[in-house]
Amino acid sequence: VLPLADVDYHAPDRLDDALALLAAPGSVALAGGTDLVPSMKMGLHRPARLVSLRRLGLRGVRVAAELVIGAGATLRELQRSESVQRHLPALAAACATVGTPTIQNAATLGGNLLLDTRCVYYNQPAGWRAQVGGCLKADGAVCHVAPRQSACWATQSSDTVPVLWLADARLRVVDLAGEREVPVRGLFGPDGRTWRAALPPGAVVTEIRVPLAVSEIRHEKVRLRQAIDFGAVLVAVTARDGAWEAVIGAVGPQPIAVSAADPEALAEAAARACYPLGTQLSPAWWRKRMVRVAVQRAAAALGH
Ligand SMILES: Cc1cc2nc3c(=O)[nH]c(=O)nc-3n(C[C@H](O)[C@H](O)[C@H](O)COP(=O)(O)OP(=O)(O)OC[C@H]3O[C@@H](n4cnc5c(N)ncnc54)[C@H](O)[C@@H]3O)c2cc1C
Ligand code: SF4
Repeated sequence: VLPLADVDYHAPDRLDDALALLAAPGSVALAGGTDLVPSMKMGLHRPARLVSLRRLGLRGVRVAAELVIGAGATLRELQRSESVQRHLPALAAACATVGTPTIQNAATLGGNLLLDTRCVYYNQPAGWRAQVGGCLKADGAVCHVAPRQSACWATQSSDTVPVLWLADARLRVVDLAGEREVPVRGLFGPDGRTWRAALPPGAVVTEIRVPLAVSEIRHEKVRLRQAIDFGAVLVAVTARDGAWEAVIGAVGPQPIAVSAADPEALAEAAARACYPLGTQLSPAWWRKRMVRVAVQRAAAALGH
């Protein structure tokens, strides 16, 4: 078991107090902690101060003109929510494929959307990383995936992102300067080091808003085991206004969106657009092939 370094811990019960704490250098927001805390133990993040969002009342789901989900709602809560099952069942399905039930009990939707990008050379204990000299994303000068390039290809691997992207979801983001909306489809950057490109430092996501008139979406996850594993490929597919659309996750620093006139053309377009990284257990050629298969499966499940 890796030890956790000393860190200041605050759990304010007012959003204003949380924002003031988060504005100080070295502060990081803590939600369920299921990604942040293991990352801290591996020395990937070394915050001076953790600001827990748990007491801010960001939980719950309500239906107004839109489906409004508290950023602190747990993935378990969303699976059980009648409103989510009724208006966006694909989100409930995506939450059910994250990690394990134990993780889903603690993990929040906000944390899932803001999950750090992942790579086999990055998500390792500090001692392991030191043996290879670190990498561009942490404590090093070279990318081991593409040594001649200056970019990072670590992957955006959140299960809920492809579904929320297709559902046109937006984040309500608050910081000391005020509040704004950020669309899920505009959240991510092209480099794995800037995985939450559109979010200002010190900002808190308070809720996720989804239009109610969402066409049916199908979520598919390809993984090696049916629990614990992150997706080797994540796919969400829908058909609307006479066109087919797919969003593919876990194949690069930001999800890839494609559209086509029919499901077979969509699967072809998706496979062509994706250049996933390979690992020993899931080589790049296999993951690329599984992009096509996952899109075909999702389209078939939609009745086509
Ligand atoms: C064994 C294991 C398996 C896993 N499998 C999967 C998987 O299959 N799929 C998957 O998607 N994830 C997986 N995860 C990762 C993680 O559990 C989930 O992504 C989870 O949803 C993260 O949410 P959290 O609330 O725990 O976030 P945290 O770890 O608390 O935070 C994650 C990041 O989001 C920021 N943050 C969180 N909430 C807010 C907010 N409201 N405003 C501003 N910033 C915020 C934090 O500062 C941090 O940078 C796995 C983790 C483990 C340990
Ligand atoms: S892809 Fe990013 S995380 Fe992976 S080795 Fe290269 S720089 Fe590091």
